[in-house]
Order: sequence, then structure tokens, then C-alpha cells
Amino acid sequence: MGGLNRRRSTVFRWLLAGIFLAACAIGAQAADKTIYLTFDDGPLPGTKNILSVLREENVPAAMFMVGLHAETSPSGRDLVAEAKAMPLVTVGNHSYSHANNRYRLYYSNTQAVVDDMLHANEVLGLKPIVNARLPGRDVFRLPAVSREDLSINVAQWEREWLDYELVAEAGFHLYGWDFEWVHGGDGKPVQSVDHLVSEIDHLFQYGRFTQRGKMILLMHDEMFQDRFNGRENLQALIGKLRGRGYAFGDIRDYAPSNP
Ligand SMILES: [Zn+2]
Repeated sequence: MGGLNRRRSTVFRWLLAGIFLAACAIGAQAADKTIYLTFDDGPLPGTKNILSVLREENVPAAMFMVGLHAETSPSGRDLVAEAKAMPLVTVGNHSYSHANNRYRLYYSNTQAVVDDMLHANEVLGLKPIVNARLPGRDVFRLPAVSREDLSINVAQWEREWLDYELVAEAGFHLYGWDFEWVHGGDGKPVQSVDHLVSEIDHLFQYGRFTQRGKMILLMHDEMFQDRFNGRENLQALIGKLRGRGYAFGDIRDYAPSNP
């Protein structure tokens, strides 16, 4: 009698252990497939659609905004305020001027870059330490992650050398990206949602990211205008990625300094 009970409880314990291990495996798998949605250059036409989809889907995202666009876009300041009021959205700094799209000149003077970034903090109402992305620079400077922009060639490197440490010391955590949903000159997305999802699947199988199992996806606000079906595309992207077992991460948890 006692023996049978003991055997039963042993079986039960093994069963529990099995369930526990299976749960851990699922947890580890989910943690190994995290996507960080990031949107650059707002506020712009398209920003409104992004915020409303993020709210509906309850998904975290980083919006790296441009100070000049906050001042010049229709309802730019309202969009900044709307984004800042959303708990899952991180409003980041993407400079004041966006280098006026003249990177060669912009990146010839570190102090001018720092001043431009600080100016954007004022306009966007951000207080250090500020999450930021430099215009056109895929660079990481975080307490636990440092990576150079590997797309820059030697000539460019010599002429446009920037002291990223100095920028970081001015109170910025700099984020690059792992993959981009590309757009054309008019802002129209190049890849279809299905194509993008298959590229992401492929990269998670064979690719290498800055941080293992974590993909920072770069997109631009202008891609999500009504004329490009921005709402529907973003909804479809989030739904499909979710359906394939990806988790959406908050950029503030991307690289904890004390893991
Ligand atoms: Zn940009």
C-alpha cells in the first residue's frame, strides 16, 4: 500500500519535472526570438497610424524622433506628446537636424553633432539618459554593448570619424539596428509584409545579431502613411510575427547593464 503510494508520488514528481522542463524550453525559445520594433524620422505622416496600431496591439516600440520634424510636421508636437504618453513606447532622439541629410559635413565635427543632439532633447522634452540613434549611423554605444558601423568604408572612416564616446558621455545610449524594412525614395515599403517575415525567419535561423536572439528592426515613419496602407501593413506584420512565435521586446530591456 505504502509502496504503491510512494511509486505514485514518484511518478507524479517526474511528471511535474517534465512539465517544468517543457515550460522552460518554451520560455527559452520565446526569449531566443525577440524583435525590437524601431521607427525613425518621426513625427511625420505615418506616425499617427503607427501609434494607433501599437496601442491596439499592445506592443512595445522605440520611436527615434527628429526635433526639426516635431517643429515642422503637421501636429508634430501633439504626436510627440501622444507617443510619450504611451507606456510601451520609448521616444528616442534621432537628432534635431537629421544632418540636413548631408552626412559628410555633419560627421566632420563631433561637438556640433553633440550640440545638435542636445538641441533635439530640448525640442522633444527628453532628459538624460536619452535613448538615441544617430542619423544614418548603425552604431551601438550602450553600457553593455559597443559596436561600430560596419557599413562605413575606409575613406569615409577617415573623413567622417566621430568620437562616439563623447556623444555617449553627453548622456545618450546609442542604438543601431540589425535589419531594415527598406523603403523607396517616396517612402513606399520595398518588401511586402510576407517577404519581410520570410527574411526575418531566415535571419533568425542563419543570421547573427548584435545581441543573440534579439533583432532590432529598423523602419521609418513615412512608410506607414495611408497611401501605402500603413495601418494594415503594420497590423499584418505584428500579427504574422506573433503567430510565428516571436516576442516583441522593449528597447529599454534590450541590453541591461547588470544582467
Ligand atoms: Zn533617419
